[in-house]
Amino acid sequence: MIKVNENYGKLKASYLFSEIARRVSDFQNNNPEANIIKLGIGDVTCPLPDACISAFHEGVDHMGKEDSFRGYGPEQGYGFLREAIAENDFQSRGADISADEIFISDGSKCDSGNIQEIFGADIKVAVSDPVYPVYVDTNVMAGRTGENIDGRYEGLFYLECTKENSFVPAPPSEKVDLIYLCFPNNPTGTTASREELTAWVEYAKENDALILFDAAYVAFITDPQIPHSIFEIPGAREVAIEFRSFSKTAGFTGTRCAYTVIPKDCRGFDEKGDKTLIHPLWNRRHCTKFNGVSYPVQRAAEAIYSPAGKKEVKGLVDFYLENAAIIKKEMETLGYTCTGGINSPYIWIEGGEDSWEFFDLLLNKANVVCTPGSGFGKCGEGYIRISAFNSRENVLEAMKRIKSALK
Ligand code: PLP
Repeated sequence: MIKVNENYGKLKASYLFSEIARRVSDFQNNNPEANIIKLGIGDVTCPLPDACISAFHEGVDHMGKEDSFRGYGPEQGYGFLREAIAENDFQSRGADISADEIFISDGSKCDSGNIQEIFGADIKVAVSDPVYPVYVDTNVMAGRTGENIDGRYEGLFYLECTKENSFVPAPPSEKVDLIYLCFPNNPTGTTASREELTAWVEYAKENDALILFDAAYVAFITDPQIPHSIFEIPGAREVAIEFRSFSKTAGFTGTRCAYTVIPKDCRGFDEKGDKTLIHPLWNRRHCTKFNGVSYPVQRAAEAIYSPAGKKEVKGLVDFYLENAAIIKKEMETLGYTCTGGINSPYIWIEGGEDSWEFFDLLLNKANVVCTPGSGFGKCGEGYIRISAFNSRENVLEAMKRIKSALK
C-alpha cells in the first residue's frame, strides 16, 4: 500500500496567497470594470537591470558556441559568482566569509525550506509570529510539529513580535535548538540592531543552538548602523547560516538565483553530543538533490556586482523605497500606525480588530489588494502588510483611492 506523508494533513487548508487570490477573483468577477491594484504579494515589478540582461545574453551566446559551451556546472555554483559574492557582500563589510562557504541556488524559498532536512527530527524549532510561512510549513511537513490548534502548531516555539517589543523578539528564557530569524523582516519590515543580533548569537552559543538568518531583503537597508549580515556579529560563524536572494535585490523573482552561506566552522551536534560540522552535510544534500543554477543566470547575477550593475540595483531599490515612503506617509496621515517602509519594501499597518475585514474594506472600497497580517500568524491579527513593489503610478493611484475610502 502506498502510504502518504500524513504530516501534510496538518497543514492549514489554505495557503495565504491562494485565499487572497480567491477573494480578488470573486471581487473581479462581480465587478468586471474595477481596475484592481495589487500591493499584496511581494513580487517585484521593475525589469532586470541592463547590466544583468547584457550578461545574460552573453551567457546564452556562450552556450551556443563549441569553445564556450558549458554542460553541468559545479552544484555549488561557479567560482566567478561565489567570489563576487564573498568579496562584495561580506568581505567588504568586514564579515569573514570565503567563496567556498557559499552555495548558489535557484531561490531562498527552496533553501530556507530545504535546510531543515539536515537537522534531527526531535529538535525544538523557534519561529517568529508573524512569520514567513515557509519556515513553519516545511517543519510541519517534516513531522516536527503536532496539530494546528487555534492557529498555532503544537511543538513549535513562537517568538511573539508585537508593538511592545517593536516587532523584534528577544531570545527566550527557555532552550530552543533551531531559530529562524528574518531581517529586514517579512512581513513587519523591521530590522535588527547589532545589539539585538549579538544577543541571539550569544544565546545560540550558550544553548548549543543554530540560527537560520534570512536576509532576502538586505538590499533595502539604508541605515549604516544596521548590520547587513549575521556574520558581521563576532562569533556568528559557528552558530549561524544565512540565506540571501537576488529576487528582491535585482528583480530576479522570475529569473531565479539565490545563495546560502554556511561557514566551514558552523557546527551542530550528533546523538552523543559531539560536534558535527554543518557545511559538509549541506554540501552532501545540495550535490545529491540539486544540479546547479543555469550558467547564463549565474552570469546575469554576477553582473549585479559590476560598477554598472551596482548603480542600477541602487536605482531599483531607491525606487521601491520611495514608493514605501509614499505609502507610509499617506497611511500615517490617515492616522494609522506604521512599522517598516524605511529599510524595507514592506509597511506593516495597525488596521483595527480584524485583518481580513480591513483587507476586504480596501478591496471593496479602494480596489486595492494588501496582505492580511493574520495570514502570517496570530500576532499579525489586526495588521495588514502593504508592499512597495509596483509602479509609481499605481502606488499614487492606490493611495489616492485608500485616502478617499478611509476618510
Ligand atoms: N525569504 C523571505 C523572507 C521572502 O519573503 C521570500 C520571498 O518573498 C523569500 C525568502 C524567497 O525568495 P526567493 O525568490 O529567492 O525564493
